[in-house]
Amino acid sequence: MNAPVSIDVLKQHLIDPEICIRCNTCEETCPIDAITHDENNYVVKADTCNGCMACVPPCPTGAIDNWRTLLRADAYGVDEQLTWDVLPTQGAVPAATVATENAEAGDVIEPGPQTDTVRGSTVPPWSAAKPYVNLYTHKAPTTATVVGNYRLTDATTDSAIHHIVLDFGATPFPVLEGQSIGILPPGVSADGRVHHARQYSIASPRDGERPGYNNVSLTVKRVVQDHDGNATAGVCSNYLCDLKKGDVVNVIGPFGGTFLMPNHPNSHLLMICTGTGSAPMRAMTEYRRRRRLKGATGKLMLFFGARTKEELPYFGPLTNLPKDFIDTNLAFSRTPKQPKRYVQDAMRERAPDVAQLLKDDNTHIYVCGLKGMEDGVLQALKEIAEGQGLDWDVLWQRLRKEGRLHLETY
Ligand code: NAP
Repeated sequence: MNAPVSIDVLKQHLIDPEICIRCNTCEETCPIDAITHDENNYVVKADTCNGCMACVPPCPTGAIDNWRTLLRADAYGVDEQLTWDVLPTQGAVPAATVATENAEAGDVIEPGPQTDTVRGSTVPPWSAAKPYVNLYTHKAPTTATVVGNYRLTDATTDSAIHHIVLDFGATPFPVLEGQSIGILPPGVSADGRVHHARQYSIASPRDGERPGYNNVSLTVKRVVQDHDGNATAGVCSNYLCDLKKGDVVNVIGPFGGTFLMPNHPNSHLLMICTGTGSAPMRAMTEYRRRRRLKGATGKLMLFFGARTKEELPYFGPLTNLPKDFIDTNLAFSRTPKQPKRYVQDAMRERAPDVAQLLKDDNTHIYVCGLKGMEDGVLQALKEIAEGQGLDWDVLWQRLRKEGRLHLETY
């Protein structure tokens, strides 16, 4: 018998550095820590990856879905992958490939089933519009002109959050609420490489920041500190916040095919966000506000957290929205002489109303903002559901499978 020796052949999982927007989603999703990164690239460890596909559906660009069939002994190492600017082409496929491992370059690899390691949905709502993704890439970006840039947060606060409007003129750039774009900042990093793109959620609805115009808005916080509180100047956020009207920026995208809003008129939106994570919620709310007159009847409930009222982007316009249109709940964590309050505290205070939404199959949940909020929000949802006699584990699985629980935290 000349049975093929499967152990010699590897379908190696690779990430395309030309498309990857370094959003960290794959590394966070991987259940076995097979993905790592440096300041240059995100890469997959060939000796750890088991091809479970958990990372594939959540990737907003599809950069993750690349495979090369080669002898295991020839697998590309992590150090080598970290230096890549482009993926190597598929060489001759080794003959001793067994049926399950014989993907050819260019094969379409279908996303695997939703795995238990993914906490949110990896499918869009059933009634979401079909998104365009990757129309413009690192290799072939497009440009947009700045038509507006103003600070949203009070000048007395340290937190400078800007609302930036980019116009694409006659260049097609179709977007949906919940999608993001990549900005390519000019210049090079310390090691002389061009900067990779930074991802920002779109804060405007599909028909434009100004209805009927080919423009989008972004919500950008000027980064002046790293995660440890040390002074640093964020490359792209400072570039964006300093832009003037008429400046031209390089843009890639759009990205994202799952964090999308439902379009059936009786769908409810339960939106939970912190800080600049409000960008997609603003887009969805504004779309529903514009569509309201055209028959949307679903409820909108928003939980929005910020340090103080002065640091909450869009505070003024938000508080002016009619109460019968959106049920807004704000949580401030650093108001002088007030106890710290997070979005999950506000959710617990509104438990009966949140539970009412959880019981409704038309409810879609969106969570966006700080990574740290994800655990707290899921815990609050669990407590609220169980307080009303709902089996959270069953409900959670259904929400995920039905494209009704979307998490985007960084
Ligand atoms: P921030 O001002 O640092 O924090 C916003 C609020 O969240 C503060 O009240 C903060 O409280 C609170 N918070 C901290 N830990 C929390 C937890 N475990 N649970 C609940 N609330 C918590 O926020 P930011 O600087 O605007 O950051 C927003 C995040 O959204 C960033 O990570 C950003 O990457 C992400 N994001 C941005 C976009 C975009 O388009 N710009 C899109 C998606 C996501 P404390 O007083 O305790 O700090």
